[in-house]
Amino acid sequence: MKIAFIGLGVMGAPMSRHLVKAGHDVAGYDVHPPAVEAFAADGGLAAASVREAVDGADVVMTMLPNHPQVEDVVLGDHGVLDSAGTGTLLIDLSTIRPETSATIAAKAAGQGFGALDAPVSGGQTGARQASLSIMVGGDENDFAAARPLLETLGTPRHVGGPGAGQVVKAANQLVVAGIYALVSEAVVLLEGSNLNPATGLDVLAGGLAGNRILDLKRESMLAREFTPGFRIDLHHKDMAIVLDAARRADVALPVTGLVAQLVAAGRAMGYGSLDHSALLHVTEALSGR
Ligand code: NAD
Repeated sequence: MKIAFIGLGVMGAPMSRHLVKAGHDVAGYDVHPPAVEAFAADGGLAAASVREAVDGADVVMTMLPNHPQVEDVVLGDHGVLDSAGTGTLLIDLSTIRPETSATIAAKAAGQGFGALDAPVSGGQTGARQASLSIMVGGDENDFAAARPLLETLGTPRHVGGPGAGQVVKAANQLVVAGIYALVSEAVVLLEGSNLNPATGLDVLAGGLAGNRILDLKRESMLAREFTPGFRIDLHHKDMAIVLDAARRADVALPVTGLVAQLVAAGRAMGYGSLDHSALLHVTEALSGR
């Protein structure tokens, strides 16, 4: 297949390479030229613009930071809808607000394009290992067409109509941030009680409190190793999506509201470019540690 992949950052870089390795003809574009050069060095085709990347593409994939970038790339002048051929399938892998995905799907359908929202979970490790959990919103026939490609990147699941993938991803992000906040509190309690935190967290990981964040991140958190991974700035963006989705659904999420403020504090304290496990710094600061 001829694929355009736009956004070759932390996640897009390994994902686009999996598609190349699977034998597809992949044209990559990013506003950051070194990302495009690195992609070409790994066997991809370098594109100098969105228009050039999507020329003749069967499928266009986007993996961009947030909705303004997705709107710009998809709906903007010389964007995907302007430049790709009718019948092209757009798969947006970015985490953005559900209403933007729904708007894009409606505009795309009006112009004869298919469009799916397909945000992912599993982080940089999941992207590298092609083991992402992929939540897909949109038309079922479009999902069936996209499925083999998405299976190159992880495990896709159709969860509903346009925007539904983003709502499931919002639920995922509130759980992840909440667990980071609680693991941070466990660390502060153990260290504040002069206990060995590594031993304590090992015990937690083996019992009912066990979870994947404890499995994957407890060592790096105890070592205060916060190289991203998933930046606090991006999780702050996601918590706004979660709270907005809750408002639209007319539901109250009180714990999420509190956790969103802790993530906001991390950003305000200057940790925005650190991994989201650096929420530990915020919890420590609350105890003067
Ligand atoms: P990133 O910032 O590393 O990558 C985004 C890339 O998009 C960058 O290379 C940037 O130069 C490029 N870009 C920005 N605007 C552009 C434009 N107009 N045209 C072309 N390229 C443009 O971010 P990331 O960590 O790869 O995350 C991408 C998306 O995936 C976000 O929505 C994020 O919330 C989501 N996500 C990230 C992770 C993670 O662990 N990093 C996990 C799951 C989901």
